[in-house]
Parts: sequence; C-alpha cells; structure tokens
Amino acid sequence: MDYKDWIQNRAEELAEEQYDRDFYDLPDNLQIEVWNRAEADYHDHEADKIDAAYDRAIERNMSKRIPGEVRCPRCSGECSLTSYSRLAVCQKCGLRFDY
Ligand SMILES: [Zn+2]
Repeated sequence: MDYKDWIQNRAEELAEEQYDRDFYDLPDNLQIEVWNRAEADYHDHEADKIDAAYDRAIERNMSKRIPGEVRCPRCSGECSLTSYSRLAVCQKCGLRFDY
C-alpha cells in the first residue's frame, strides 16, 4: 500500500469514527482537517515501523554476542553485556563502557 492509499484509508476511517459519515460527504473544511490528521497518523505509523525495525536489528546483533566475548579495556576481564544499551560491565573491576 503506498503513501496516498494509506492516508486515504485512514481518512475514511477517521471520518467514520469521528463524524459517522463518509469522507467525501464531509464539508471541505472537515475533509482537510481529517486528511491532515490521517497524514499525521501516517508519519506516526512510519516512525513506529522504523523503531520496530531498529529494535529488531539491535536484538539480532545482541543475540550473536555472548557474555565474555567483550573484554575490559582496562584489565581485560570478562564483561557482562546489557541488551539494547550497548553497555558492558567488567566482571572483574566493574568498569562500565560502551562497546
Ligand atoms: Zn576490568
């Protein structure tokens, strides 16, 4: 579904939900208002998709790493990794660093 179809569908949905009417039966000013809202929803929807894809990529990356794989730059002890944040904590000296 492309950009315009998505907004079109959303605008029709909003018109029905909020005014209980077909989008094309709404007066011009309400059509514009509903259309703008549908457009804003589209951008939220796209932003959510990007966030979700980003989270999945991070998770994929993380699952390949096993504790102990990252070594402390100060004492070269084994580090435990926190998921998502890319923060490692040295088990030996407690140093926290980004990896
Ligand atoms: Zn250390």
